[in-house]
Amino acid sequence: MDVRLRSRRSARQAAATQTIEEEPVVLPNWCPQCGGAGYLDSINLTRETKMQTCQQCGLRWETHID
Ligand SMILES: [Zn+2]
Repeated sequence: MDVRLRSRRSARQAAATQTIEEEPVVLPNWCPQCGGAGYLDSINLTRETKMQTCQQCGLRWETHID
C-alpha cells in the first residue's frame, strides 16, 4: 500500500471512492433447483432483493441481498 499516494488523494476522489465502496456488491447465486449458474435479472433496492434466472433450467428466483 502506497501511503504517500493515499494522502495525496483529493477530497473529491476520496468521496468518489467511498461512494463506490458503499454500493452493494451483488452477485448471482447458483440455481436452487438444478445447481446451474444463474444470472442477475434485476435488483430491487427497496426490498433489498435480487431476481435471478438460471441459465440451464430457466428458473427465476428471488433472494435477499446481504
Ligand atoms: Zn436451474
